[in-house]
Amino acid sequence: AIVAGRMVLHFQEGHAGMRELLGGKGANLAEMTTAGLPVPPGFTVTTEACREFFQTGGKLSDERFGEIGDAMKALEVKKGQRFGDPHNPLLVSVRSGSVNSMPGMMDTILNLGLNDETVQGLGRLTGQEAFAYDCYRRLIAMFGNVVFGIEGLWFERKLHKLKEDSGIEEDRDVSAEQWKLLIGQFKQIVVERAGKPFPQQVEEQLRLAVEAVFASWNNQRAQIYRRIHRIPDEQGTAVNIQSMVFGNLGSDCGTGVIFTRNPSTGEKQLFGEYLHNAQGEDVVAGVRTPLPICELEKDMPDVFTQLSATADRLERHYRDMQDIEFTVERSKLYILQTRGGKRTAQAAVKIAVDMASEAVITREDAVLRIEAEHLDQLLHRAIDPEAALDVIATGLPASPGAATGQAVFHADAADEAARNGKRVILVRQETTPEDIHGVLAAEGVLTSRGGMTSHAAVVARGMGKPCVCGCESIRIGDGQFAAGEQVVKEGDWISIDGATGRVIRGHVALKEPEISAELTQLLVWADEVRDLRIYTNADTPHDAAKARELGAEGIGLCRTEHMFFAPERLPVVQSMILAEGMTERKEALDQLLPMQQSDFEGLFRAMDDLPVTIRLLDPPLHEFLPELGELLKQQSAQRQETERLEQAEKQDPRLAEVKRQLLETERLIRKVRLLHEVNPMLGQRGCRLGILFPEIYAMQAEAIFLAVKSCQQEGVRVKAEIMIPLVGHVNELKRLRKLVEETATAVLGDELAAVDYRIGTMIEVPRAAITADQIAEHAEFFSFGTNDLTQMTYGYSRDDAEGKFLTAYVEQKLLPANPFQELDREGVGELIQWAVQRGRGVKPQLKTGVCGEHGGDKASIFFCHELGLDYVSCSPYRVPLARIAAAQAAI
Ligand code: ADP
Ligand code: MG
Ligand code: MG
Repeated sequence: AIVAGRMVLHFQEGHAGMRELLGGKGANLAEMTTAGLPVPPGFTVTTEACREFFQTGGKLSDERFGEIGDAMKALEVKKGQRFGDPHNPLLVSVRSGSVNSMPGMMDTILNLGLNDETVQGLGRLTGQEAFAYDCYRRLIAMFGNVVFGIEGLWFERKLHKLKEDSGIEEDRDVSAEQWKLLIGQFKQIVVERAGKPFPQQVEEQLRLAVEAVFASWNNQRAQIYRRIHRIPDEQGTAVNIQSMVFGNLGSDCGTGVIFTRNPSTGEKQLFGEYLHNAQGEDVVAGVRTPLPICELEKDMPDVFTQLSATADRLERHYRDMQDIEFTVERSKLYILQTRGGKRTAQAAVKIAVDMASEAVITREDAVLRIEAEHLDQLLHRAIDPEAALDVIATGLPASPGAATGQAVFHADAADEAARNGKRVILVRQETTPEDIHGVLAAEGVLTSRGGMTSHAAVVARGMGKPCVCGCESIRIGDGQFAAGEQVVKEGDWISIDGATGRVIRGHVALKEPEISAELTQLLVWADEVRDLRIYTNADTPHDAAKARELGAEGIGLCRTEHMFFAPERLPVVQSMILAEGMTERKEALDQLLPMQQSDFEGLFRAMDDLPVTIRLLDPPLHEFLPELGELLKQQSAQRQETERLEQAEKQDPRLAEVKRQLLETERLIRKVRLLHEVNPMLGQRGCRLGILFPEIYAMQAEAIFLAVKSCQQEGVRVKAEIMIPLVGHVNELKRLRKLVEETATAVLGDELAAVDYRIGTMIEVPRAAITADQIAEHAEFFSFGTNDLTQMTYGYSRDDAEGKFLTAYVEQKLLPANPFQELDREGVGELIQWAVQRGRGVKPQLKTGVCGEHGGDKASIFFCHELGLDYVSCSPYRVPLARIAAAQAAI
């Protein structure tokens, strides 16, 4: 690469563009060093060295360790200190740093280079013995944890006990002698749990620490995080070795984290927290609840001014909101890390729009900045403002959105409850990275300690989960927590409001979200650049109106069967199916007709002046009948009842009625058996149904045209698109098209000329795609039903595949993604492209679109754009996402 053959680079040798090699942290430390910011000197061991480390069986080669040694020498010269020198010891941190930031997922060790001798040197040098031993005890605990895998709890307990025994509240009040005592106990823990002593030899400390950080790439929580965020396993992490600066040297010292803008709301104001007289991990670990950053302005105004200026400079330099870690040592500011700050979707939108308005980025940049998937979060639910609330505590509003669920107190319990279909709120004192699966499983998270930048808050925001943290007024005990007089037990319902920090007793009604001014702006910018039109899949006027509010430009798919399932209609639908002869069937259809007509009228009104695509009945008829098993049970119960009544001494008046019911059940059973198919998805459904029962499609077409007629009379501008499903052969389409056209003439007569309607088909059977040129002759539009098309192209039953082999296929990387979620470009996509080209060859004006689940998937939308389709259609709440994704595809 750039510095051929070397796997260890000093900060001054790198830059921000080298994150693949240096990891994000290392690349930014390099960039800041070069820019002249106050970064403690150090160097980075590259991700390449990490890959080498795994190839050589998890050991650092002598060559690599030699290279690290050389870099340490250079660092010693720069600092005028020596590693392991009892009089003037160099201390370093060993910090993990992967390519994509994985906050808190991997390990860092501070104060490396301390041992029984150098600790005394540090004490003499600083004139603060207690401080030196404080550093030493931190090193032993961190080292024990990271290198030897000893749970932090063992050390924390001892510290806790020491403070309790001596009545001390704060770490800074612990004396040198007390720290020494604790250090003795810590060393004992290491010997007991690791079977070997804490290494006194500093070179050995360094080697083990680097190896442990590399190895931490494969710890369980890092693996889970990578899976969630789709980070490749092969990437590896870099290790940064950096000279220490001390935030725990006294009252003119401290450490903190700031965001250049509010990561929760996006507001332009320095946001963050710091702790006096503390070392780095204390803030993020949530051990002590830190002070808001505005306090720093009062305590150390000069430092604060410098920090704000640096924040500003970094933000402009990176043209993005930054998350900055800093330490103040004896009133001098040091910057220890900067990175693009994690933010909620709401903040992302506001920041992008604000930065475009400030001319820091372009409008197109602003649109590109939005992670389309995260828009879902914006459509976050809130607590119904009308609801009466029993607020029992208030914490920090760490991640917006409201959640309601049963309280659980352990990550594993949350995980298990969620698997059993329960909605839970995870309640913890603080969360550690080991809790990540619990956060994922929960509806929301509540913690009693830790600030807005604590682990719980960062992780929850990243996942779009509501979170309230630092709620210090609650006391968490065993399987319960207390808030004032109230006690909430495991399994009790609680609600949290991540926007205000409220903790509420009981189940609370949640209100659907609204769209902010910034999002509206961003969507307008997106609309200016996108080529694809965005339609929605909607079956009711309510959904249609919602989708239209969210920017839908028409209905791409109305599934008429959903109208058949309404409880008051099902009996009519069933009698239509069960009808013995044509007259009986006609009777039932006549009852259905006005119902369908009013459905369509509702849709046309909601979509005034926009196209409404109505698919004629698609599923096999047996779906509308009760299950055979149920019927058989019913039959046997009715038989027994009949027998019982027949054997009774006196003629029972109920007998006739029970007999009649039995006959009815038997009729249903016969019909269900008759309609039974081994493979209903490939059976008598879609247009096949329309061919065999033309009166059903005729009724639907009649309802549509009657609705068109009455709506037009009201002044509604109707654009009806009638869609024939599951066509495989052109003859099917020809026949049904004729049926629809004849119905149109019959209903509308002379008015037909003034009606804007089209007839088209779904392309969801591979044969239809292949013969698209023939089909296009009889269709004004193609709507690719990519769910069925994927199912039939792959030959995967979509109802069976997902839960079974498909998950394994994706995990074992046989498939790049689940093809039902992300459109398969090579196979299904090729068919679509073929059909579009063939179809347009015959009919240049042919309208084309996608109406499967893929219409709301970002990668699939990109593909549809590349194919030059006219539209995608997705569910109402995916419409904003689709608008953004379509714009991103076009930029
Ligand atoms: P993470 O990736 O988990 O944030 P870091 O490597 O950033 O871990 O380290 C955590 C914290 O440790 C930092 O925020 C900083 O406060 C502290 N720290 C790391 N290196 C140093 C150092 N050289 N001097 C002082 N503090 C440090
Ligand atoms: Mg950090
Ligand atoms: Mg289909």
